[in-house]
Amino acid sequence: MKNIFIIGSGFSSISASTYLAKKGYKVTVFEKNSSIGGRARQFKRDGFTFDIGPSWYWMPDVFENYFNDFGKKVSDYYKLEKLNPAYEVYFNTLDSVKIGDSLEKICKEFDRIEPGSGVVLKTFMEKAEKHYEIAVKDMVYKPGISPLELVNKKTIVRLKYFLTNIKKEVEKYFKNEKLSQILQFPVLFLGAKPSNTPAFYNFMNHADFGLGTWHPKKGMYSVIKGMKKLAEEIGVSFKTNQNVEKIIVNRKSAIGIVVNGEKKYCDVIVSGADYHHTEGLLEKKFRSYNESYWERKIFAPSSLLFFVGLNKKIEKVSHHTLFFDVDFELHASEIYDNPKWPSKPLFYGNFPSITDPSMAPNGKEACFFLIPIAPGIVDSDKTREKYFEIIIKRLEKLTNQSIRDHVLFKKSFCVIDFEKEYNSYKGNAYGLANTLKQTAFLRPKMISKKVKNLYFTGQLTVPGPGVPPSIISGKIVSDLI
Ligand SMILES: Cc1cc2nc3c(=O)[nH]c(=O)nc-3n(C[C@H](O)[C@H](O)[C@H](O)COP(=O)(O)OP(=O)(O)OC[C@H]3O[C@@H](n4cnc5c(N)ncnc54)[C@H](O)[C@@H]3O)c2cc1C
Repeated sequence: MKNIFIIGSGFSSISASTYLAKKGYKVTVFEKNSSIGGRARQFKRDGFTFDIGPSWYWMPDVFENYFNDFGKKVSDYYKLEKLNPAYEVYFNTLDSVKIGDSLEKICKEFDRIEPGSGVVLKTFMEKAEKHYEIAVKDMVYKPGISPLELVNKKTIVRLKYFLTNIKKEVEKYFKNEKLSQILQFPVLFLGAKPSNTPAFYNFMNHADFGLGTWHPKKGMYSVIKGMKKLAEEIGVSFKTNQNVEKIIVNRKSAIGIVVNGEKKYCDVIVSGADYHHTEGLLEKKFRSYNESYWERKIFAPSSLLFFVGLNKKIEKVSHHTLFFDVDFELHASEIYDNPKWPSKPLFYGNFPSITDPSMAPNGKEACFFLIPIAPGIVDSDKTREKYFEIIIKRLEKLTNQSIRDHVLFKKSFCVIDFEKEYNSYKGNAYGLANTLKQTAFLRPKMISKKVKNLYFTGQLTVPGPGVPPSIISGKIVSDLI
């Protein structure tokens, strides 16, 4: 039986491990941290539970298809709840828009904000749904080896949507700034500015309004636990506290790793760790990409995160709440064009204990705040503190309640932690952005160009950032082996 080593235990690695074990390989996963899950790990304190990374469960079809590939169902491993509202967006003090759990409800809300926009939304969404079908059926499961993978009758007639951007496309339909921002929000998951993301990616609007926002009971980590259980059922072995220090190459072929100072040998290596870091485990002559290649790439943002335990229940916010009460364009340009700490940050608040009592003690609230920031930016305790005060003051004002005096504890996580915990290039939070020039065959390759039997998976490869794409990435790489 061939022996495969997988570096890292994020969504992509666990996914790859299951498909490879199903093919009959002996698979061992090596994770440097003390718990598995990568960017999707969990943090617990004083009865509060926080997902450290992903919290939006979108594209439930991808998760269902994954478990179906093993003759199983999502419900065999974790419980899902469709959120209503899916999320809420604040634009000003006590002025928010709630996105419901059906297109009908969302159209009504659009009409409330701008009469007549509900009908326009239906037209917009028909196109988004069509693009979603094409993306999921004909595009995202391709290995990114050749541009020809993307050429078919359905994509050729849609060429114009690859040549214009999502911002322009949305603004063609919606002049109202609030509605336009809501419709541009989903592509932020792809890691680039809406004005730098092909209009074809409006399929994310179908993922949002069409398929809905779901919550796995006890948090996103339930998905990691479910996938690990499946992996172990089919023979995958997981090893934590295993820092891979080197990839051993013999006659241009990967033959093993040095882990915690010890040499271990195998037939094939798959790395789900950040691509740049994995290549750093090789001698320079075996790396497919040099430093200037990575310097030129557009990375997804890093993030300043806060995990906060409150001694009371919070009001006037929803499970997922976005605070878009400041200039969207300015913040975006301070991430991508002119990288610096944002003058006026947009932020996201996740309050999972509003709908899931298991996430916080009775009468208390678990709060997770995220401010997207430029990767590689200088991170210090003082700056973190400054931004905590900014967002808490804004939250208090926008929702007209006191928060600061109810904080039991807070923990922050930022660029330095992304680098230290995940070996992330410049502390990026979710990989390489999906711009036109960094899509599909233009992303870093899954098969090493220089070393035989060495493969890459995860959010820096195809199809890109996010939990569903990472799960798909694990399947794609396993098909190449
Ligand atoms: C704050 C944040 C919020 C997000 N929100 C969402 C969301 O709401 N919805 C969504 O779909 N996606 C979201 N994402 C993106 C999503 O979490 C990621 O795209 C996905 O989890 C990446 O999985 P991965 O397998 O590619 O990489 P990772 O999860 O990073 O896994 C890589 C693993 O490799 C390990 N590793 C690195 N170096 C070594 C080494 N030398 N030896 C051994 N192990 C090593 C790391 O410790 C890590 O466990 C978010 C990400 C972040 C950070």
